[in-house]
Amino acid sequence: MDKINENELGRQKPLVMKFGGTSVGSAGAIVQTVGIIKKYQRERGNVVVVASAMSGVTNLLLDCAEKATLNDQPGFISCITQIKEKHLTCLSELPLSAHIRENAEKLIQAYLEKLLNFCRSIQTLGEVTPRGMDAISSLGERMNARQITALLMEQHIPNQPLDADQLIITDDIFQKAHPDLDLSCQKVRALVTPLLNENIVPVVTGFISATKEGVTTTLGRGGSDYTAAILGNCLDADEVWTWTDVDGVMTADPSVVSNAKVINNLTFDEVSEMAYFGAKVLHPKTIRPLSDKGIPLWVKNTFNPMSPGTCISNQASDKPGRISCVTTIRDVSLVTVHGKGMLGVPGVAARTFSAVAKQRASVLMISQSSSEQSICFVISSQDQTSVIRSIEQELEFELSRRDIDSVKALSRVVIVTVIGAGMRKTPGVSARIFSALSLEDINVLAIAQGSSDYSISMVIAEEEADEAVKQIHMEVIINGKQ
Ligand code: ADP
Ligand code: ASP
Ligand code: MG
Repeated sequence: MDKINENELGRQKPLVMKFGGTSVGSAGAIVQTVGIIKKYQRERGNVVVVASAMSGVTNLLLDCAEKATLNDQPGFISCITQIKEKHLTCLSELPLSAHIRENAEKLIQAYLEKLLNFCRSIQTLGEVTPRGMDAISSLGERMNARQITALLMEQHIPNQPLDADQLIITDDIFQKAHPDLDLSCQKVRALVTPLLNENIVPVVTGFISATKEGVTTTLGRGGSDYTAAILGNCLDADEVWTWTDVDGVMTADPSVVSNAKVINNLTFDEVSEMAYFGAKVLHPKTIRPLSDKGIPLWVKNTFNPMSPGTCISNQASDKPGRISCVTTIRDVSLVTVHGKGMLGVPGVAARTFSAVAKQRASVLMISQSSSEQSICFVISSQDQTSVIRSIEQELEFELSRRDIDSVKALSRVVIVTVIGAGMRKTPGVSARIFSALSLEDINVLAIAQGSSDYSISMVIAEEEADEAVKQIHMEVIINGKQ
């Protein structure tokens, strides 16, 4: 056994493996996943599993709640039926003995009963709180953990389903809760370590957490990656592996760019920039708990398990100065506050951004401007109306004096970001990007260089975004001299 990987008890340090929605989205996928769990539990022991809901189930759960608020009873019943069929079909297709299957079916039925009761209460009240949404959206992971443990049990792999609301303690910002790492680590060590010591595989529900008082919260969409990172940190894991449906982190979203390539090595800094700027492959908060402790993160393909995947660590990437990938954030709006009279008037920028913050809207990108005559930034389109109103109220006096001419929002735009370690040290990257875009006559509406030196972002009209991504990918990443 490798000494470096041993903890003080002489045991192998834990390996945390997270399986995303598609990796546990059908009977076939669960069989594949359980095969992987079995292999690594046999080879090295101390495996901790984090499981997502079956793919599509979290969306269906949220739909059920939405339909219940609209008093659409046939609608929410049909949603519940779809969720039921998905799980019962999956259980019927899994190679299980009758008693294990029946037991799992009973557990699933009990969760579906809960869901029906939640929906009826929402229907009566005519509304659902974020707290209610979390109670409902947490059911997908709870149900799926029971399907996976049924197959592990069938295959004689000692296991224990664990609902992560017993493990991960957060504030009460429902639907996007922030974990208290110290408190969570105490719980994780108390509940998970004894199982590992007994060679039992804990199957932890991803995405789910709870307040100190035990009220269920969730970590935000795609949050199972974050669950795995928190467990990895708390257990001082050897490594964290996230298993998904692509061969690793790629040079662009493979659903947009067909010749996107797998990136073998990335630094935590690069991948955090990628996740922040829209690469769906990892939840943006996944990085911090692991980079803080230098725990490597691998992204691997459940359906091609022998391909090596992407290793993300604190080690510098293999080629200094290279450009790694191009990402997009969609459904955003470009806000411009403009006026010749702004020149030299102190505090306009601060007041503009505090008006944005009052609406709890995040500023995704701020564009640099050499003149003081305009402030230009990007927010999520869903915040557009409230943000514009809030800025207009804040700057009412300046608008009435015409020191500020306008507060405008341009919707249907996309942020396209090019990311790479040491980008600033490579001369001519921006020139290459803009000449790539000019080849297709693509207009750039705003530009910003990332404060981390790892990225350059551009705002581009929605209808030109895919072409822009393909063009930059081809000219800067594939054909670029790196
Ligand atoms: P999981 O359910 O396993 O967490 P996700 O759907 O959340 O999987 O993330 C994986 C998906 O992310 C891939 O199927 C791919 O379409 C998308 N994706 C977007 N950008 C990238 C990228 N740069 N590299 C890899 N995958 C990406
Ligand atoms: N099931 C959750 C979602 O769909 C969490 C996850 O899959 O990571 O957002
Ligand atoms: Mg995901």
